Order: sequence, then structure tokens, then C-alpha cells
Amino acid sequence: MRLWDDPVGKLNVVLGASARAASAPAMGYKSVSMSRRRIVPLLLVMTLVVIKVLAANGALAQDKGSVNPKPLPPLANPNDPKIGAKELFARKLLPSKGPAHVIGSYVKGCIGGAEQMPLNGDTWQVMRLSRNRNWGHPDMIALIKRLAAKAHKDAGWPGILVGDIGQPRGGPALSGHASHQIGLDADIWLTPMPDHRLSREEREEMSAVMMVRDDRLDIDPRVFTPSHLLVLRDAAQEPAVQRIFVNPAIKKALCREAKGDRSWLSKIRPWWGHDYHFHIRMRCPAGASDCQGQPSQSEDEGCKPSEFAYWFSEGVLHPKPPAVPPKPKPPMTLAQMPAACKAVLHAGDAKP
Ligand SMILES: [Zn+2]
Repeated sequence: MRLWDDPVGKLNVVLGASARAASAPAMGYKSVSMSRRRIVPLLLVMTLVVIKVLAANGALAQDKGSVNPKPLPPLANPNDPKIGAKELFARKLLPSKGPAHVIGSYVKGCIGGAEQMPLNGDTWQVMRLSRNRNWGHPDMIALIKRLAAKAHKDAGWPGILVGDIGQPRGGPALSGHASHQIGLDADIWLTPMPDHRLSREEREEMSAVMMVRDDRLDIDPRVFTPSHLLVLRDAAQEPAVQRIFVNPAIKKALCREAKGDRSWLSKIRPWWGHDYHFHIRMRCPAGASDCQGQPSQSEDEGCKPSEFAYWFSEGVLHPKPPAVPPKPKPPMTLAQMPAACKAVLHAGDAKP
């Protein structure tokens, strides 16, 4: 099973175990071409479910934040074993002290000793500050700073807008993604940074720009420009980056436009929910023995028409709501997470 191929983690949340077991392998390029006939109908059903859930509680780049976020109320019984781990991790406002320590997987894990992405740099600004999700592994923070400088130098952007990385101690969040749990996932807006310092209001309210044409079969060339290819290429060419998730129409455009060395295209993967931002996923850092990464994908460019047939099929482009709404699954508890995450959760705060 390759559940990790679901960057947002919604499949993990909404699908029953048997559906996951049967369908998750289809998320790899190879598996799709090998057993398309059997798996596509099931995928279509899954898509409907996923889209519905995304619409219901997705918290994506285009979702607005609040200038005056209310602190979460204290939990009546934080030791209740049935309580969702997301309730516990969302209430930690600072990382645990100590060196960086990645525990578990992108969709079930946490991070100790996370580092904060500074809110402003010469070539970046962090968005949606009310979410407090600008924390990640030090390698991720360094990567984003490097990519920001490259977006300026190579693509001519003033800089990049940084969306969600992770919570101070990682773990599941109350809204949005089910991945982003170990400080090795980050969302970068496809909207270039404006040439001025954004106000607090703008950071919460400014809308990201939709990059995909109305028919969803291609990018909108008025907003998705050749500079976007350069930014995505820079990110994909970083050795520590394992995958980048984009809307399928964006992948199609990159396949059409990329010149010269195209090997980086293998890291760019079509996925739901990436019309406004792209998602960078790093490999486990060297020596991080508690980090459960995922196998590398095929080195194939993933540009053949057959790779897009599923994504541009009618059921995916224009999904119908499911006849029977999916039953909500109980949230992941702390006991279901790697044991070391309990220690991370209860450790003292790092110095702010
Ligand atoms: Zn993401």
C-alpha cells in the first residue's frame, strides 16, 4: 500500500481499510497502467468521496485565516484515550526542546525540536499566520529559504509565499491536511510574492490565484507562466525533495514545456487539491531512524497521455456527490501514533 501518495491524507481519513487496501496501489504511476481496468471504477468512487470531504473541511491555500484567532479552549479531559490526537497537538504553541527528531510517517507522526520559518525574508513571506503552521524540520526551513532565493534569481519573482508547513510539534491538525505531520511537507503558493511587505490582514485574507483553466484540462496561461516552470524545476531538482504534488493540468503543462534535462519531471506528481499551491515532500533526513519515509517513485517522466487519462476522465473532472455520504471515521488517537510522539507532546517547550 502506498497511502503516503495521498499528500493531503484525506483517503486515509475517509476510506475504510478494505477500500484503501484495494485501491491505494493505483496511486503509483506504474500500478495505474498495470491494472487500470479494475481500479479506475473504484478510484472514481473514491474521488467523489475525497472531493466531498475536501469541500467540506479542506483548509487549503485559498482558505482564509483570521486576524484575531481565538485560542482553543482547554480540553475538559485531555487524558481521555478516545480524544483525537489532533486536539492535543493543535494546542501546543511551541516546539519541544531538544534537537530535531522526526518520528513516524507523513500521515501519522510528529516532530520534536522543530524550527520556525521566519515570517519575512528578502524573498519570502509566510501566509495565514493564524494557523501557526510555519514549523518544520530544520532541513525543510533551509530548503524553503534556498528555493525562495532561487525563485527570485531564476524566475524573476520578488519571492515566494509560504503556506502550511506543520504545527510546532507536527502531528495531525484540526483542519486540512492529514499529512504535514513530521515537518517534511510544505505548501508553497503558486501566486508569486507581491513586491511589497503584506499586512497582517492581507496574509489572512488575500486569495491565492487559480492556475487551472475553467475546463480543468490545462493551465490558464494568463496566470501560469514560464516562470512557474522554473520555480517548480528548482524545487524538483533539490536532491532532498522526493515528490512535488500539483494539479494534473499543471503536470501536463510542465510535460509540454520542459526543455533540456527533463529527469526532474518524475518527481512532479498529479494530485487533487493543488490548483493554487504546490506541495513539497522531502525524504527522511539522513540518519533519522525513526522517520518512516516512502519508496521513491519510478524515474519515468510520467508524461504519457495514458498517465493523464484517469485525471481527465469525466468522473474526475466533474464528480457527482456520492449517493450515500461516507461515515466519518473516529479521529486518530495518541495511542495509535508512534509511542515516541507521546514524549514529544509532553516535553517542555523550546525557548521561544
Ligand atoms: Zn500540502
